[in-house]
Amino acid sequence: MADIHSYDFAGKRALIRVDFNVPLNKETFEVTDDTRIRAAAPTIKHILNTGGSVVLMSHLGRPDGVEEKYSLKHIVSQVAKVLEVPVKFVNDCINEDAQAASKSLATGEVLLLENVRFYKQETAGTEAFAEALSKHGDVYVNDAFGTAHRAHASTTVVAKFFPNDKMFGYLLEGEIKAVDKVLNSDEKPLTAIVGGAKVSSKITIIDRLLNKVDNLIVGGGMAYTFIKAKGGHVGNSLVEDDYLAIAKNILLKAEAKRINLYLPVDTIVADKFDNNAAQKLVNINEIPDGWMGLDVGPESSKEIRDIIVHSKLILWNGPMGVFEMENFQKGTIEVANAVVEATKNGAFSLIGGGDSVAAINKFGLADQVSYVSTGGGAMLEYLEGIELPGIKAINE
Ligand code: AMP
Repeated sequence: MADIHSYDFAGKRALIRVDFNVPLNKETFEVTDDTRIRAAAPTIKHILNTGGSVVLMSHLGRPDGVEEKYSLKHIVSQVAKVLEVPVKFVNDCINEDAQAASKSLATGEVLLLENVRFYKQETAGTEAFAEALSKHGDVYVNDAFGTAHRAHASTTVVAKFFPNDKMFGYLLEGEIKAVDKVLNSDEKPLTAIVGGAKVSSKITIIDRLLNKVDNLIVGGGMAYTFIKAKGGHVGNSLVEDDYLAIAKNILLKAEAKRINLYLPVDTIVADKFDNNAAQKLVNINEIPDGWMGLDVGPESSKEIRDIIVHSKLILWNGPMGVFEMENFQKGTIEVANAVVEATKNGAFSLIGGGDSVAAINKFGLADQVSYVSTGGGAMLEYLEGIELPGIKAINE
């Protein structure tokens, strides 16, 4: 494995796997959010500025064969704008034209290949396809954290054709460093805030966090399964009855490990799953039938805030309520504000793995926390302790 900080790119073609899976306007095909393009820019610019040329490969959407609407040609002008250099494009990723285009690339030039998922061999991880991709570069850089949990040709298999010339880009390196800092440094207290819809999708993470954290705040839809497991009455709130025993087990484990597992004490309930539903504030253990909890209440927010602002390391995964609805976003906003405040006071805060990223962006606070992850599913798996194939392929 090589290191992007010290590698000599002079005269080399760098084949970079980026995650340019960006949202497009359905009619005009314009890029509606270029966060992912901007996130990869430091790696690309570094290589261009140190004498290399760049071949970019990415997927876009989940095409079934070649589908015009998923063509990366739609994003060429936005990539050029972000990088402030012209960007060449070729309408295939492995054919003769593509190979000729990358071969003729001069120092400082950038070529974007067509969507790698136009070939089913990409997701199948076919070796011959990966080898054809590898011909585009003298060196392979993986900067696509969002797909690092997939053992695809361009994210994983291709690395084997660069035994000594493979490395992480700055973005991927930053993601790994941020999680390691939160989970493996000695500073205390470490607080994890886990929310979102279901216990089932977060169970492995919660279990692993029990070996790491001092405080575990559980909010969002999954809190009601815990409340029911403790004997509370949760009305029509989201509950996974299959997970009651598991929830009980987690509560016992936390107690045995002397971890402060915080559950909300009050909740805003609604008579239907609708922003304009009737709502009232109740004790979370006494939710009337016909009503469902859609946000945490003010007393809970106050207590949660108190835990967060006294933390040195913070991991936030998942909203406290249905934050997409204006009337049920308050608990999530208050968590975001508390994380910002803790960060101002010197804590390291990582927002990652799903909708808390959408929330912090929605509230315009992303630049006031320490790190916002770009990889949803990849971050979840990384937090679960899984060795991501894209990372393993570079390390081994
Ligand atoms: P996740 O992707 O697991 O992080 O779940 C995020 C989703 O959970 C968001 O779309 C929220 O609207 C939803 N959510 C949060 N709190 C609740 C709740 N109390 N009831 C139902 N859904 C919720």
